[in-house]
Amino acid sequence: MSSQWIYLSGQFVKKEEAVVSVYDHGFLYGDGVFEGIRAYSGNVFKLDEHVNRLFESAQSIMLMVPYTKEELKQIVVDTVRKNNLSDAYIRVVLSRGAGNLGLDPASCSAPRLIVIAEALALFPKELYERGLRLGSVSTRRNRPDVLSPQVKSLNYLNNILVKLEANQAGVDEALMLNDQGYVTEGSADNIFIVKNGVLYTPPVYLGALEGVTRNAIIDIAKEQGYEVRQDPFTRHDVYVADEVFLTGTAAEVIAVVEVDQRKIGDGTPGHVTNHMLKLFRQLVTTDGVQCYPESPQRDAV
Ligand code: PMP
Repeated sequence: MSSQWIYLSGQFVKKEEAVVSVYDHGFLYGDGVFEGIRAYSGNVFKLDEHVNRLFESAQSIMLMVPYTKEELKQIVVDTVRKNNLSDAYIRVVLSRGAGNLGLDPASCSAPRLIVIAEALALFPKELYERGLRLGSVSTRRNRPDVLSPQVKSLNYLNNILVKLEANQAGVDEALMLNDQGYVTEGSADNIFIVKNGVLYTPPVYLGALEGVTRNAIIDIAKEQGYEVRQDPFTRHDVYVADEVFLTGTAAEVIAVVEVDQRKIGDGTPGHVTNHMLKLFRQLVTTDGVQCYPESPQRDAV
C-alpha cells in the first residue's frame, strides 16, 4: 500500500481508495476543469495565478466552485503537507460531479474536487541540454469561438490528437497551428521564438492557453530589458528564428532545436533560452506560497 493521500470531495483518502463514480460527468463527458501546479522546495509557485485561472475556466463553463479561492489555496497547501512533499506536481480537478447518463449538467448534484500531489518526475537533464525536436501537425487548435483554449477543461482531446500525431511523426512535441495557419502552442506548452534579441509569443486570442509560465517568462524577460512582443507569427517565422523554446509548468523552459526538420540556429539551445531557464529557476526558489512556514528552508524530502 502506498502512503499517498488524495484530497477527494472534502476529505483525504488513501490513493487506493480515491475512486469516483462512473456517472461523474468529468468521466462521461470531460465536463470539468483542471490545473497543473508545481511546488519547489515546499513553495507552491504562482498559486494565486493557477487558482484564478481555475475559477475563470469554471466560470466560463458555468461550473460552481464549491470553495472560496482562499479555501482552495489552503487545500492545495494541505495536500502537499499531508504527503510530506517538497518538490511536487499538483493536479487540481473540478468535475461537474455525478449525474445521469444524459449530458445535461442539470442532473449533476454537486461538483467534485480532487487534488493530487506527487513527487515530481523531472524531465531528464539531457533533454534540456539537447533540446526538443518539434513537428507541426495537421490537427488545428480549437477555435476560440467554439471551445476557448482559455478554458482549461477536462476535454483535452484536441491536445491528445496533436500528441498522437507527434508520436507518429517520431518528434518530441507538436507545433499546433490555428485554423488560419498561425502558430499557437504545443500540446501542453506555450511557444516563444527569439529573433534579433526580441522575444515573440503568440497572442492568446489566436488560440493558446494563457500559460502561467508564459506570463512569468514575459515578466522576467521584460525585467531583463528584452523586448517581448505578443504578435501573430507563422511556421516560417519559427523556421528562421534564432532560438525557439517552450514553456509550461512541467517543462519549465525548454529549448527547441529542430522544427519540421529545419535546424534552429546552430542546433543547440540558445543563450536567451538558457538565460530564461536560469532566471526562471531562480524565481521559483524565491517566489511562492510556503507549505511549511515553520521551516522555510526545508530541503527536499
Ligand atoms: N498550453 C496548454 C494547452 C497546456 O495544457 C499548458 C499546461 N498547463 C500550457 C500551455 C502551459 O501552461 P502553464 O505554464 O500554466 O503550465
